[in-house]
Amino acid sequence: MKTQIIDGKNIAKRIKDEVLDEILKFKNKFKIIPKIASITVGENSATKIYLNTQLRICNDLGIDIEIFNFKENISQKEIEKKILDLNNDKKINAIILNLPLPQHLNKRKIQNLISPKKDVEGITSENLGKLFYTSEELLVAPCTALSIIECLKETKVNLKSKEVVIVGHSEIVGKPVLLMLLSSLLSSPTVTVCHIATNNLSFHTKRADVLIVAVGKPKLITENMVKRGVIIIDVGINYVNVKNCNDKKIIDQKAKNPKLRLVGDVDFENVSKKASFITPVPGGVGPVTNSILMKNLVNLLKLQYGLSLNGYKIF
Ligand code: NAP
Repeated sequence: MKTQIIDGKNIAKRIKDEVLDEILKFKNKFKIIPKIASITVGENSATKIYLNTQLRICNDLGIDIEIFNFKENISQKEIEKKILDLNNDKKINAIILNLPLPQHLNKRKIQNLISPKKDVEGITSENLGKLFYTSEELLVAPCTALSIIECLKETKVNLKSKEVVIVGHSEIVGKPVLLMLLSSLLSSPTVTVCHIATNNLSFHTKRADVLIVAVGKPKLITENMVKRGVIIIDVGINYVNVKNCNDKKIIDQKAKNPKLRLVGDVDFENVSKKASFITPVPGGVGPVTNSILMKNLVNLLKLQYGLSLNGYKIF
């Protein structure tokens, strides 16, 4: 079987070009530079990577971004006040709340203080709730879930009546993608969601025509867990040690640390032999997610400036 790689970089470039065009039109019309406020609390290596990505994309698209980096011990009250100030700040068009937050903070309460009109990550209850109502115009939604839909569309395979299995039921990936896939019953697949308490994971994964994996465990999905011809969307981001032929960790002599490489949740080398389509890691879902963040921003700008709206079409 010939396996086709779903090239996330290509999809991301297409979306980014569209976004750039919209941003230029917007800047010319209103003579303002859109601005994002990005909030982080404490130090976290995953957040650092995400922040660098935000800075790079904003730079590429000519968008302003201001990073508010709070100390680990910031109080709930202080961070709530910051969100409210940013909601009222006319120069700020979008707010990103980088996760994770320290344990003492109430994440959900903070997320829900973000104005839905500035909620560029689509994580407030109001914006998430719109996923339930298929008649609502979908202007923003969790970027990774939308990215998965974009990767699936790229295959041009009609999903109607297919068996889709999602592994992982998080609020930003598994749950929103489930609702998106069910958004048009006339063209929807049948969807199963697996999680930590699922008995016999491979019973479900073997049935899948489309397998979406968002867990954060390298090689969770192996060759014997999938059927031939499956479409695989691998969302996982895991850094694993690079080893030599004697199974010993290779040390980066310059940094004096073990060398790491990025892998997904799927044993790509072996599973890809059975798949009809598969997203690689890196270069699959990740780059698309970043470009969707900017598409969400464009939709918010249109909403804020009363321009005609053109929401996401899932199917
Ligand atoms: P998360 O909130 O930790 O969710 C992980 C999910 O996996 C949970 O629903 C968990 O179930 C489930 N799970 C854990 N072990 C399992 C197992 N053995 N079998 C089946 N399900 C299991 O993580 P997330 O934020 O959704 O992210 C998941 C992965 O995607 C991570 O690697 C993350 O870095 C990556 N990610 C990638 C992108 C991208 O753009 N590429 C974006 C976001 C996240 P329980 O809740 O029941 O424990």
